[in-house]
Amino acid sequence: MINVSTVPAFNDNYLWMVQGRVAGNAAVVDPGDAQPILDWLHSNKQELTSILVTHHHADHIGGVAKLKETYPKATIYAPDDPRIKQKDVVLESEQLISLADLGLEFKVLMVPGHTSHHIAYFGHGSLFCGDTMFASGCGRVFCGTMRDLNNSLQKLSKLPEETLVYCAHEYTLSNIAFAREVDASNTDLEQREIDDTQKRANDIPTVPTTIGLEKLTNPFVRVDDALIIASAQNKVGKELAEQWQVFETLRLWKDGAL
Ligand SMILES: [Zn+2]
Repeated sequence: MINVSTVPAFNDNYLWMVQGRVAGNAAVVDPGDAQPILDWLHSNKQELTSILVTHHHADHIGGVAKLKETYPKATIYAPDDPRIKQKDVVLESEQLISLADLGLEFKVLMVPGHTSHHIAYFGHGSLFCGDTMFASGCGRVFCGTMRDLNNSLQKLSKLPEETLVYCAHEYTLSNIAFAREVDASNTDLEQREIDDTQKRANDIPTVPTTIGLEKLTNPFVRVDDALIIASAQNKVGKELAEQWQVFETLRLWKDGAL
């Protein structure tokens, strides 16, 4: 049993609190800021026992030091990235981690692209994927490569369709606006825009999403779809023979670089 709660931070970040079978204990995923986490732990009467980090960006690790200072027994799990200074357990690909203090287990997935050392945590029907896959979008390519991020999204899309995807930002409506430009005749996407616009109007998060919904409505996942390929080729005026080139075209297009 897993219970996940949203703690909003900054403008549009979601920090995730995870509770399992052990009452009174909680983990946090990507604490970019400590104070909202400390407030949540206090008001929910929970002890922080684990800190799960997906990648080195400040809005994902900015609160780690303060949380470790406040909860010295909390274990920090992180990828093997020298830019993440504080870590107790360095994670490897496909490694299973057992959070005994929560009664939960997660599998570590290597998902480079947004950064070179990005990881995701998968378990109990839930995926914590940082800035890799977003609702109807994906992260920008910073210190990874276009090929990497394409491969990582394809890897995540193979997870069970009902998997809940806890990404780290509320970027959904702007992602959908771009997706509609690329994939104009997609009726699932049209319906999603209606649903998610309604949610945002009522201040409801559009995250988590699911792998199944992303396969239907996320152009960065749908790079094998004939209409998406045609749309990308039309944008650059040439044939794109490789899947990752379609992905790269979409990413550059979304970035305003084409
Ligand atoms: Zn990031």
